[in-house]
Amino acid sequence: MKSQTRVHALFQTLWNKKLNNQCQYVDADGERCKTSAIKSHTVQRGRVLASIAEDGHVFEIGIPKKQSPSKERTFQKVGVNRASVFPGFCNYHDTILFSSSETGQGTLSSYEMALLGYRSICHETFKKERAERVYSNRQFLSAIASVDLAAKRSAEAHLEGTRLAIRDLTRQKQAFENAIHTKDLSRLYGTVFTLAAEIPLAFSSSFAPEYTIDGELLLPEQYGNWNSVGVFCGAIKERNIMGFVGLHDNDEHDISKFFKSLVSVPMNRVGGLSLHLAIEHAENTFFRPSWVSKLLPEIREELLSRFASGIPGEPNSRKANLVGQFDVINVSASQRDDFYP
Ligand SMILES: [Zn+2]
Repeated sequence: MKSQTRVHALFQTLWNKKLNNQCQYVDADGERCKTSAIKSHTVQRGRVLASIAEDGHVFEIGIPKKQSPSKERTFQKVGVNRASVFPGFCNYHDTILFSSSETGQGTLSSYEMALLGYRSICHETFKKERAERVYSNRQFLSAIASVDLAAKRSAEAHLEGTRLAIRDLTRQKQAFENAIHTKDLSRLYGTVFTLAAEIPLAFSSSFAPEYTIDGELLLPEQYGNWNSVGVFCGAIKERNIMGFVGLHDNDEHDISKFFKSLVSVPMNRVGGLSLHLAIEHAENTFFRPSWVSKLLPEIREELLSRFASGIPGEPNSRKANLVGQFDVINVSASQRDDFYP
């Protein structure tokens, strides 16, 4: 138990270590911006978070900070100023790249879809690089090795998986930068559902789909290249939407199939689908506090245990049938817009 406490303490220290993060934007000449990144919001604060916040707060699912080694997830309160921030871009690039995509009016253009996809890849890269730093730290690894052999093996597997993911993300980030600079969107796929009513959650994330939405397995060969799907949900451009975006960057992991399968989602299940995506795939999710407080205890427990049990890259039967699961959010979509090459 003592060595587990040490692992946990080291993890917290390394994870929360403040670094001088450089803006992730790379220009058309391949030069990375040299300015420091600000803490920008991946889920836009002024409108998207504001629309679900109550008294300046939202809920997220996480492990309570002060609680030692417990792995119990809970819904916890977070102030909207702190929710979903990551040091991704400098002030200038954060503003010119993303402010019109989120705060304007009307429908999203395919170029704005590409920008939102780019941001979700950058956010994922930031998270994976931080995990890589923690799991390759010698002190941390020797602390884990002192727990037991199983813990050591699982940390090594985690590190290997994280490094493969960084390889895929680096390739995809470059592909998005190319598309943005050249405005060549011929490999861009996207789908936006407009919801008929507000929903009590918002997220912005990306995931590498193991299945199409209608349950077809979609795995590359072992050590093959993966693509990602960026997904965002909330009040964007004064509409309540859930959107998906990705670049078909290589044929080994054919995400065009994922996008084409979205036509099979019944419009009356889109609100329900948003919750299941948030639980099974999206980590960066925020909930309206009064909605969380009113959840039936058994549903709350079920959602938390599913959130904890999701392992990226590992197919589970629930991921094969996201649309068919119980409806806690009964909101229909009124419109579906597809962006295909
Ligand atoms: Zn910059």
